[in-house]
Amino acid sequence: MKFSDIIGQEHVISQLSDLVLNNRLSHALLFHGPEGVGKKALALAFAQYIVCENKQGHESCGECPACRKAAKWVHPDIHFVFPVIKDGSKKSISDTYISEWRAQLDHSVYFSYADWNEALGDGKKSSAIYVDESSEMIKKLNFKPFEAEHKVMIIWLAEKMNVQTANKLLKTLEEPSEKTVLILIAENLDFMLSTILSRVQQIKIPPIDSDSLKQYIEKEYQISDDLRNFALKYGKGSVLKTLEAISQSEQSQRYHEWFVQFMRLSYKNSMLDLIKLIDEIIKTDKVEVKGFLNYSIRYIRDNFMLNLQQNHLVSLVADEFQFAEKFSTYINPNNIEKIYTSFNQTIEQIERNANVKIQFQVLAIEMVRAFKMG
Ligand SMILES: [Zn+2]
Repeated sequence: MKFSDIIGQEHVISQLSDLVLNNRLSHALLFHGPEGVGKKALALAFAQYIVCENKQGHESCGECPACRKAAKWVHPDIHFVFPVIKDGSKKSISDTYISEWRAQLDHSVYFSYADWNEALGDGKKSSAIYVDESSEMIKKLNFKPFEAEHKVMIIWLAEKMNVQTANKLLKTLEEPSEKTVLILIAENLDFMLSTILSRVQQIKIPPIDSDSLKQYIEKEYQISDDLRNFALKYGKGSVLKTLEAISQSEQSQRYHEWFVQFMRLSYKNSMLDLIKLIDEIIKTDKVEVKGFLNYSIRYIRDNFMLNLQQNHLVSLVADEFQFAEKFSTYINPNNIEKIYTSFNQTIEQIERNANVKIQFQVLAIEMVRAFKMG
């Protein structure tokens, strides 16, 4: 990837290319900063820039054989070290999982440690950089570069090295092999050995500037201005957090639509349509069903607060507020207890593995009754 594929970070990019152009490239760099700001993206583009055979000022050419190999993550002088899981027969080293790594990078170079654990397994095992890796690293660092002038080793999430591995890496840092650039990437320096920190050139990667992130979101996601602004604010310069806000809010919109229909049909006592809606809701998974029920409870509470004219206690977004303005008149002291109890009992029953469809039908009947009370 080229520097121009990175979201923002112009200042860091010129700082990095200057190191090469002015011949001040040190043998070990540490990129550190919060999750989702593009540390890995910067390391990948920087590695490509270092091996590029036809640099165009501050940018790699993107077309020479070296750039083409780097862009497919297969350049023989760009090595990757990353956390892996322990899986019985397989050796716990990065090379074992290199195809998963390349596939993940192909999907997007912006991914988190949690995303990576998910890609390696079911996300339940936490990956780490185990001691087996250190001999691999030393072996690779002792090779002469195959094709490029330098060889580059990117160590993603250096804080996931256990102490043994870190101590072996330390030896390498003390006696650097020639023509080698180590790029360590870390989110949390507290978990790194101070002896390592003192031997690397630290480069702090700041949050992505809001203009660049805004442009990126505008280009990639067709969403309302409100949602985009909310996501940017929530994301605080992390592309991953910004995208998380967008997807979570898609979920809330779906829950809201279900809720509106559920309430309208209950109010009209349209049992047949209610059963159709229930089928639609429960064909998703249990997490989604419980998410919907919890959303409903929160939303009902906010509606009741509106009914009591306690507007300062509610936190509703545009669509939710619009519906609640009228709906809140139906959630009142006469029926609030029944509605609350019905939703809570549905969650409890589902957690006890009761039949989800039957529980929802009971809930629908209770809601029909509740509206008659209101
Ligand atoms: Zn090139």
